[in-house]
Amino acid sequence: MLKTDVRYLKGIGPARGRQLSKLGIETIYDLLLHVPRDYHDRRIITRISSLVPGTEVNVSGTVVSSVYLKSRNGKRRLESIVRDNTGELKLTFFHFSYIAERLKPHTRIIASGKIDYFGGISIVHPELIFLDEPDSDTRLVLPLYPLTAGLSQGVMRKLIDAVLSEYASSVPAVLPPDVLVSMGFQNRSEVIRKVHYPDDPDEGFRARRTLALEEFFVHQSLLNYVRTQAAKRTGIAMIPPDGTLAEFAGGLPYSLTGAQNSALEAIAADLTRNVPMRRLLQGDVGSGKTVVAAAACSICCRSGYQAVLVAPTEVLASQHHRTVSAMLEPAGIRCGLLTGGTKISQRRILLESLLDGSLDVLIGTHAVFEERVVIPEMGLCIIDEQHKFGVEQREKLLSEREPSPHFLLMSATPIPRTLAMTFYGDLDVSVLDEMPPGRGNTTTRVMNRDSRSSVYEFLLDRMGKGERAYIIYPLREASKELDLKDAATSYEILKRGPLGGFGVGLLTGAMKAEEKLEVTGKFLSGEISILVSTTVVEVGLDVPEATVMVVSHAERFGLSQLHQLRGRIGRGGSNSWCFLMKSEDCGVEGARRLAVLNSTDDGFRIAEQDLKLRGPGEVAGTRQHGIPAFRIASLIDDSDLLEQAASMAGSSNLWESLRDEYKLRFRGLDILEL
Ligand code: ADP
Ligand code: MG
Repeated sequence: MLKTDVRYLKGIGPARGRQLSKLGIETIYDLLLHVPRDYHDRRIITRISSLVPGTEVNVSGTVVSSVYLKSRNGKRRLESIVRDNTGELKLTFFHFSYIAERLKPHTRIIASGKIDYFGGISIVHPELIFLDEPDSDTRLVLPLYPLTAGLSQGVMRKLIDAVLSEYASSVPAVLPPDVLVSMGFQNRSEVIRKVHYPDDPDEGFRARRTLALEEFFVHQSLLNYVRTQAAKRTGIAMIPPDGTLAEFAGGLPYSLTGAQNSALEAIAADLTRNVPMRRLLQGDVGSGKTVVAAAACSICCRSGYQAVLVAPTEVLASQHHRTVSAMLEPAGIRCGLLTGGTKISQRRILLESLLDGSLDVLIGTHAVFEERVVIPEMGLCIIDEQHKFGVEQREKLLSEREPSPHFLLMSATPIPRTLAMTFYGDLDVSVLDEMPPGRGNTTTRVMNRDSRSSVYEFLLDRMGKGERAYIIYPLREASKELDLKDAATSYEILKRGPLGGFGVGLLTGAMKAEEKLEVTGKFLSGEISILVSTTVVEVGLDVPEATVMVVSHAERFGLSQLHQLRGRIGRGGSNSWCFLMKSEDCGVEGARRLAVLNSTDDGFRIAEQDLKLRGPGEVAGTRQHGIPAFRIASLIDDSDLLEQAASMAGSSNLWESLRDEYKLRFRGLDILEL
């Protein structure tokens, strides 16, 4: 029942369904878990004589009069005067069809809302409690929910009230009973009821903490399960010929950094043991993870096994195919590329050569997870930008195999160090904390819209010198709702302007795989110098000639996301420039956030700041960048709960009973594990 789509509920049509969906609410369960961001405490009553404009207050009094007035534009409004024994306050209503009936003189009410100055001190559209009416909502502590355009607190409360009374009693248990009791609750239904309607705000916040603990617990239980399962498996002890790594390194046009060498040593040691490797290779954008992956493949293939390298996008997969095969094929290791866009005939050849062992390394996208892709001698599985994949997907590739392949996850995930231990748990972690030498400097500038023409001049100058640029927009196409510049429109404009002569291309997520590959190919070869795009370029694209990046409406992006984007430039030897263009309505808060990028290029620090500064709206942006998106829990404020959840999960082994809970809760959120 909890899985039931909210659109089947009374009062929810397609439009309301879309609004709810923007808040991540698809099911009845989602509604139950739509936790208030705060509470409105109507127990505290302010005297009318001491009201201050701009404050949220509750006023208790008696209606003196209610009159209809007409404003200059012909709109009618209702003004009611309320009196307590200290003074009078005006309540103003623009929609009043049924409220008017109830605001007759002598009616006793509590009015709540923000004090405005609207031709005198006033509350516009206050929330009302009618003290003399038995069926009025007289609960004194009311939930304030996260909302979206078109949804009011009143509507949200009605929806949640309805599901609470019908379904709250049937929610399955999650936390062990003694833990619930220690948080001050008898059972889970009570927690869910109290989070929406607590007796006082503190009780509400305690209920929220309990649900946050639950959320971490469910997640940690999955990780715990995955780890225990993995620990039971036998691995493949690889025996590469002597000098394999030296030979690999000898073929490179550069020497490996100290960090790359130590990561490789650790990986090489893991591969020779008969326990499956589970290692995370973490390194900021541009730290050179790909070459480490290629070296691991060479050990695997020279030991007689096959390797798989999976990337989250076609563009990235084909780029990996290009760079990795250039490193491996000279040594006789054969690499193939399999993506959703691979032609059927080509796919057949690939699958056959995997089967007969003539293909050593398969590089691809999700397509490699398909069942018909059989890799008989798979010894090593590498997942790049691992946070883009779900844990289930990844485990599926590995779980049925015995002996189990070695496993290398790669990530630029800027998860703060303090949390990494809990998140990665038993995974071994290697960090590339050293950038390859010979990189130019990247200068980051936060710019006003007024400076557009100087940025344009700058681009003309740089392109004239044969360099390349990315121009990034938050949207791929013009939107009716949002007045933002978008990639498609700007592409059309830039193409026709003076920059057009340098070749302008458009890359967006909506394009077909072939089109994407074609345009990135042209950008790589220099046939076009300017790539207009969205955040699709943020993952892994490696074009060393790119030296300029311009990000429009920069404050709309998460800081980590901007950091990833910026990582696309400054990859070659020359200096680079990143221009973060603020919108007109950027605001002080937005400008302060952007300034963080000016002050540091340490991805970990940026992520930490991002977590601290981000408002609720930004969660969606960071979600895709490796910071797990929890619905209720906050990684900053609830980090103590995370530790508690980890130890509870380690000792309780409740995963089997929590599997459904996991699916219900994390569906669509694509929680980013390990
Ligand atoms: P990321 O860690 O972001 O995936 P890449 O593997 O794409 O980084 O490497 C970024 C760039 O650095 C590539 O152009 C690569 O050729 C180069 N690179 C990697 N290692 C070294 C090194 N030791 N010395 C010089 N350049 C290197
Ligand atoms: Mg990479």
